Amino acid sequence: MQIPFDQIENVIRTAGLAGQSATSLVNLFQSLKGALKTPEADRDTQIETAVLRLEGEVKNTQLQNDLLQAQLMGLNQEIERRQKAQEELRSYVMHQTEAGWIVYRSPEAEQPDQPPHFICPTCYERGLRSVLQGGENQKRCKPCRETFLFAKPAPVATTANFLRR
Ligand SMILES: [Zn+2]
Repeated sequence: MQIPFDQIENVIRTAGLAGQSATSLVNLFQSLKGALKTPEADRDTQIETAVLRLEGEVKNTQLQNDLLQAQLMGLNQEIERRQKAQEELRSYVMHQTEAGWIVYRSPEAEQPDQPPHFICPTCYERGLRSVLQGGENQKRCKPCRETFLFAKPAPVATTANFLRR
């Protein structure tokens, strides 16, 4: 009976580090089972039962661990992404347009790679960064379809103004 003890050591050493560890362990136990089918081990059913049970346990535990690790990694990445987005949002400064509307202004010092821009205050409250688009006089938030006035409206040419000239 040849049990590959050096393989066992290797697998144990790499278990939990590589994603393929479950497969290697299963392969290892397949070869163990093969070794147990030699004539001198035929009577030793206790060993075979133990190996079978161990195989099942290792397979279950390892698969669950791999799954949990993947889920944990995904959750950590999502938390990191949200924290980064929140931090970025908090760096924006409240700003009043010439026309008297309140928006948020980009922090120029913290975003030297981005052009100066404004974001929607309604979306800001919801934790979203929505850059206002449009010309100098007015800009629009696409998600909430709100229009923000920036420049003061030009004086309307009334008859009184016309006569005063
Ligand atoms: Zn908005």
